[in-house]
Amino acid sequence: MKLKLVKFKREPKKCVCLTCGLKQRFKSNGRYFKTIKDLSLDKPLKLKVEVLRAKCLSQACSLKSFTLLPRGIKKYHRATERLIQEALAGLINDNSTTPRIAKRLTRVFNTTGSSSAIDRWKHEQADKIDIKEIITKLSFSGILCIDEYKPRRYKGYDLIDSDGLTGRILYLEKAEGLGRV
Ligand SMILES: [Zn+2]
Repeated sequence: MKLKLVKFKREPKKCVCLTCGLKQRFKSNGRYFKTIKDLSLDKPLKLKVEVLRAKCLSQACSLKSFTLLPRGIKKYHRATERLIQEALAGLINDNSTTPRIAKRLTRVFNTTGSSSAIDRWKHEQADKIDIKEIITKLSFSGILCIDEYKPRRYKGYDLIDSDGLTGRILYLEKAEGLGRV
């Protein structure tokens, strides 16, 4: 297990409060470190990330303080942006499933991401995009193929809508009332 230290190169001069949105000069209110996972081709890699706590200068702010992270590290994530993008690229470009991606991340990058975490990242990413944009990005050929699918050890069926020409899965949904348990 490798541990890499990620620190701010210098204290930021300006920052924005995540609660009230006020752009302000940085006033330090302490610092701490948190450990997160990252991609690595050789040994499992963890990052020890510096977190700066800033005091909010707005009198009206409800939280009074907020945290700042070095570039590429996202709040609430226990993994880096790089790892998240790699997982999403697998899901979106390769049309893969979350358990498969979780396995792949372990195999290729010596790290882990539970399928539920990957699923959450996927939804976060999808929520940022407008449905019309998603449809454009799927580059649908116009020929829709509708099929049902029953995973092993799974009650009931899933309904799969895929592109009839490319085979790409466009939409997946639980098919209520289809098939017998
Ligand atoms: Zn504030």
